[in-house]
Amino acid sequence: MSTTIVQTAAETATKGLVEIHNVHKSYGGVEVLRGIDLTVQPGEVVAILGPSGSGKSTLLRTINHLESVDRGSVTVDGQLIGYELRGAKLYELREREVLERRTQIGIVFQNFNLFPHLTALENVTEAPVALGRLSKDDARELALGLLDRVGLADKAEHYPRQLSGGQQQRVAIARALALKPKVILFDEPTSALDPELVGEVLDVIRDLAQLGTTLVIVTHEVGFAREVADRVVFLDGGRVIEQGPPAEVLVAPKHPRVQDFLAKVL
Ligand code: ADP
Ligand code: MG
Repeated sequence: MSTTIVQTAAETATKGLVEIHNVHKSYGGVEVLRGIDLTVQPGEVVAILGPSGSGKSTLLRTINHLESVDRGSVTVDGQLIGYELRGAKLYELREREVLERRTQIGIVFQNFNLFPHLTALENVTEAPVALGRLSKDDARELALGLLDRVGLADKAEHYPRQLSGGQQQRVAIARALALKPKVILFDEPTSALDPELVGEVLDVIRDLAQLGTTLVIVTHEVGFAREVADRVVFLDGGRVIEQGPPAEVLVAPKHPRVQDFLAKVL
């Protein structure tokens, strides 16, 4: 990995649950994240908006180390993702440690990404059992509770192909919750759904927000962002060009590119 991170111990002792400092990321010489700074407080709901190709997915993926960063740093709950300070030196974590840290960060993708050969229940129990966190029985009890919470108590034994897109996405949310993550990332969770199924997924996310779960949501649902988010962050060309309370950014945006974007989607 060509990563260079310069950071002192004092800088890692941060207050935000997620702290992103000056993150840069390039693919084949093209810089897609160009110095991102973003802090997410515990219990905060942050909506990330921006045009296609602006770097939203890449940014989410750096938060749970599905992508490394070329410059800058990402910490979750004070831990550098993928790195560890021992004394003054920074060490790259082993794959197993990265996986362990990644379990503290839930992620829900546009296309659900459920295991097709596992039932809804098994999709939810798989990780806590595989990681040795819970016995099979305890995982089952937890999973049934979570499926109930997302309105799918009666679908536990169904396979993904037997479920609608909205139901599959709710299973994916239950699966993310099963590891009791510190933060859950959503990457356009309703973009692949038929319009009539969007509401049931947004309802579940709204419930999580109301329970005080820390959420980072990439979405084109401007109305939902306005209702649920504490803060809206607008990305353009790999940079944060505007951020603030939804009532400001979504109602009276200052940046012309945000104005253009909203004029198109609203
Ligand atoms: P968004 O989610 O805002 O649409 P992305 O983060 O997916 O944007 O992509 C930002 C830019 O990075 C795009 O130009 C995209 O083509 C490019 N990109 C994303 N992932 C890769 C990759 N794995 N390899 C090469 N280019 C990529
Ligand atoms: Mg994307």
